[in-house]
Amino acid sequence: MERATLRRRLNWQLATVRGLVDETATTRDLVLELPDWPGHLAGQHVDVRLTAEDGYQAQRSYSIASAPEDHDLVLTVERLPDGEVSTYLVDDLEVGDHVELRGPIGEYFVWDGRTNSPLLLIAGDCDEEQRAGPRALLSATTRRRHLLRRARALCSVRRD
Ligand SMILES: Cc1cc2nc3c(=O)[nH]c(=O)nc-3n(C[C@H](O)[C@H](O)[C@H](O)COP(=O)(O)OP(=O)(O)OC[C@H]3O[C@@H](n4cnc5c(N)ncnc54)[C@H](O)[C@@H]3O)c2cc1C
Repeated sequence: MERATLRRRLNWQLATVRGLVDETATTRDLVLELPDWPGHLAGQHVDVRLTAEDGYQAQRSYSIASAPEDHDLVLTVERLPDGEVSTYLVDDLEVGDHVELRGPIGEYFVWDGRTNSPLLLIAGDCDEEQRAGPRALLSATTRRRHLLRRARALCSVRRD
């Protein structure tokens, strides 16, 4: 896929639910058909937007679980307790329904540490193990390259 294609304007499209596959008790694959899908790269995600009858809208991001060469687009959604969108997608969505979707979204870059620009890493919902890896890598890299003040890693953790 050309880089220019990745940078194109993102428009909302109407996706049709072609299949629903329960992967676990709380996780479901949504098999979606889109009339005008530009193709994607592994690791990209989409935004899904739901609109209630009264006009209220909710929007969430989901990683693309299907391979670029697959015909249908597959999203794997885990139902979170009391989650606004994931409970609907896992429990209520039916084959033939439509959802609004835009994408694909996401590009990669490699940070080689040679630039002087500051580095800010932000991660959500980290546990202790997930925090240890990036933190160790970050501190080793920044120490080696004398970048300590310009690199920060923020992890959010929820305490129940
Ligand atoms: C790039 C990206 C890719 C993603 N890919 C996937 C994916 O492939 N699959 C997937 O399942 N998810 C994915 N997500 C997460 C997804 O976007 C949603 O965040 C997720 O589905 C939860 O949305 P929700 O509306 O169900 O929950 P929300 O309503 O947003 O709530 C999230 C959780 O917080 C709790 N909560 C809400 N409000 C409060 C409050 N006031 N106080 C305390 N707790 C509260 C809810 O009970 C729930 O457990 C991805 C996110 C991003 C950013």
